[in-house]
This record gives sequence, C-alpha cells and structure tokens, in this order.
Amino acid sequence: MAGPGWGPPRLDGFILTERLGSGTYATVYKAYAKKDTREVVAIKCVAKKSLNKASVENLLTEIEILKGIRHPHIVQLKDFQWDSDNIYLIMEFCAGGDLSRFIHARRILPEKVARIFMQQLASALQFLHERNIAHLDLKPQNILLSSLEKPHLKLADFGFAQHMSPWDEKHVLRGSPLYMAPEMVCRRQYDARVDLWSVGVILYEALFGQPPFASRSFLELEEKIRSNRVIELPLRPPLSRDCRDLLRRLLERDPGRRISFQDFFAHPWVDLEHMPSGESLARATSLVVQAVKKDQEGDAAAALSLYCQALDFLVPALHYEVDTQRKEAIKAKVGGAVRVPGRGAQGHRLVLQPGPAAAGHLCPGPAPRDGPRQATPPRCPRRGFGCHGQGGGSWQGAGCPGPVPARAGGAAAAAGRGALRPQAGAAAC
Ligand code: ADP
Ligand code: MG
Repeated sequence: MAGPGWGPPRLDGFILTERLGSGTYATVYKAYAKKDTREVVAIKCVAKKSLNKASVENLLTEIEILKGIRHPHIVQLKDFQWDSDNIYLIMEFCAGGDLSRFIHARRILPEKVARIFMQQLASALQFLHERNIAHLDLKPQNILLSSLEKPHLKLADFGFAQHMSPWDEKHVLRGSPLYMAPEMVCRRQYDARVDLWSVGVILYEALFGQPPFASRSFLELEEKIRSNRVIELPLRPPLSRDCRDLLRRLLERDPGRRISFQDFFAHPWVDLEHMPSGESLARATSLVVQAVKKDQEGDAAAALSLYCQALDFLVPALHYEVDTQRKEAIKAKVGGAVRVPGRGAQGHRLVLQPGPAAAGHLCPGPAPRDGPRQATPPRCPRRGFGCHGQGGGSWQGAGCPGPVPARAGGAAAAAGRGALRPQAGAAAC
C-alpha cells in the first residue's frame, strides 16, 4: 500500500526506497530497477481509491501527453504499470529535487541563475506550445532539477495539462491559487496564456523569494487576485532592465496585453535562440565557416558580423559543454583566438576542423602574418500563502480557491476504476 505510514508500495521489477515528495494526488518514491542496470528512477504512485472521474481523466491525459514527448527539459516518462491498489508512473529521476526547495534553500536566486532556468523553462514551453499543449499547473513544485551540482530544469506533473489550440477556451478552474492567472479566477474563461502568467509568478518568486500574491489568508489572496492593481516589483535586489521588463509583461493581468508566447521566447532576457544547448557549438561553427569564407572573399564587414554572431553562440556553447577538455578548447577560442579581420587581413584565427561530436574542435589557424595574437575577442556593437507548503496545492473545480482540492478525489473513488485504457508497458517512449 502507498501512503503515509505504510512505507513504499511493492512493484514488480523495482525496489522502491525513499519518498521524494507528494503532491495533490500522488506520492513519488525513488526506486531502483532490479535488472542488472540498477537504473535509478522516480515512481509516481497514485492510489486508485483516491481517484474520482476527473482525476482519472487527468491521469490519462498526463500519461498520454508524457509518453508522446521527449525533450531535455521535460521529465521523461519511461513506462507505467498498475496493480490492484495503485497506478505507477515510472519516470526519469531528478536528483536535485524541485525548484521550490531549491529557491527557498537559497532564499532568492541571482538573476544570472534565474535566467538560465527561465531559458530552460521557455524551451520546454516552446516545445509544448508548438504541439498545442498547455501545462496549466506551472509552479516551482512541478519543476524539477536533474541534479544539484549541475542543475538542469525538467518540467513535470502534467496532471492538468491539456491539448489546447490557440483559439481554445476553457472554463474549469485548474492549478494553484498562487500561480493561477487572474482571468481564470475572475472570468472562468481562459486559454494557454495562463501559463505565461504562471511563468511570471515563478520568476518573481525566484528573484524576490515569494510570489507576488503571497497572503496570510484565502480572503487576502482572493482580494489580490481580483484587484486591478498593477503588480509592483520590489526595488531590491537590483535587476537588469530587461529582466524587469519581462516580469512586467508576464505579470500583466489582462491576457490581451500580456506578452505573447512568441514575444516571450524572443524576449532579450530569455533569448531562446542563444540558450546554451547541444546545438550552440554547431551553430557557432557554421557561422565561423561562413565568416572565414567572407573574409577570404575580402568582405571584412560581413566577416566581422558573422564572427560576432558566432560568438553569441560560442559563449552559450561554453556554458553547455561538460567535458573539461572541450570546455577549455572553446574557452581558449572565445578568449584568445578570435581576431577582428582587419582590412584585407587573413589574420583571424578561428579555423574549424570539422569533426564528429560537438561539431569538431575549434583550432587555431596558422600564425598571423600581421602581428601577435590578439587576446580580446571582437566586440559587437512571513508565513502564509506563498510561504513553503501553504497555498501551493493544485486545484481543479468550478469554485474559487476553496479548501478542498478536487483532484485529491476521495468519495467518488471507484468511478474511474477499470476505465483505465492503457496497458502496462505501453508507454513506449
Ligand atoms: P502531484 O501530481 O501529486 O502534484 P508531482 O508529479 O508534482 O505529483 O510530484 C510531487 C513531488 O514529488 C514533486 O513536487 C517533487 O518534489 C517530487 N517528484 C516528482 N517527480 C519526481 C522525479 N521524477 N524525480 C524527483 N522528484 C520528483
Ligand atoms: Mg505536483
């Protein structure tokens, strides 16, 4: 049996160990595969008796969405099974815990760290947006970290997620009051843009330590959600202008005036195009190849512009690379081997050696004929809602944030039993 006090449940093929966390309707355990690989996984156990019709639907949608997608910043569903008591979602294990714990252990995150996380979240959301999927329960508890040493963010808990085209409107209240967009509460009419509001709340909490609507009671929370007041940004800590601009545009109460998905992905503070990724080095490489060509053709201006663009990808490539040797190689190139091609100069040093992984190594070209190596790369022109553990639960229902989370199910438990369509092992990811 799963549940507090009973210890982890038994599941064929796995040894379930410590409890990693629990949410509105599931308890998640760390587990080891009994097979030789001893693979570590996280198993989300949902007690069948806690499921009502709505939560069965949610669970099915969660499985259906997750099994069909694969993205570096979305938690991977490896398989699912069930027995007479529970349904088990076997997922990739995220050793860094969730973002809520990460933020609160540090009180606030530096802007630089928040930006990297935001880029990773944006890339997951872009992937979902392209597939018309809205998450609808974005909050730090549903965002996991791959590890604490080198945390990569992984979006999780698709229990409320929905297939939603841009023109789709929904009316059911879903999510967590603190992160819920005002139009969901006030108008009961909303679309995928509610996710952008929640992103704003998460960013606000990461930078200032608590969400904008942190309150001591539900009444106070409801008043803040329903008010027309513009969300004020604290003056401290000091933040970049771009960062403040993005916060203001995400935390726009009117969805019609809120930043759009496309503008969010392209916002200079997010700048998804230059996010450190496995493609950064390849893109830098390709730009350098073009720059070399332009330079050889005598078009120094075009070459310079291409080198600058290449640098915009090289720096993220440096952040992304984990292999120390390759990192050093990139660092050396970024820091010392790039020269501004001068008038008629062939003196730039960034020459590429095409290669396999990581798009080859960047290696210095022949010694310059026109002077020493240039060291500088070219420059282009408390306690209450909002505190931990309170008000953070997820809701779904027709009413305003009330005390009973509908997803917790309960009485109508048996309703969905036996209606589960998927077969064990069918989540072929
Ligand atoms: P619920 O749908 O009940 O809210 P979640 O999927 O959000 O369940 O999981 C509850 C908590 O369990 C998360 O907030 C997180 O702390 C922990 N958790 C969930 N999945 C994993 C995972 N794959 N690796 C590590 N911890 C996890
Ligand atoms: Mg959750």
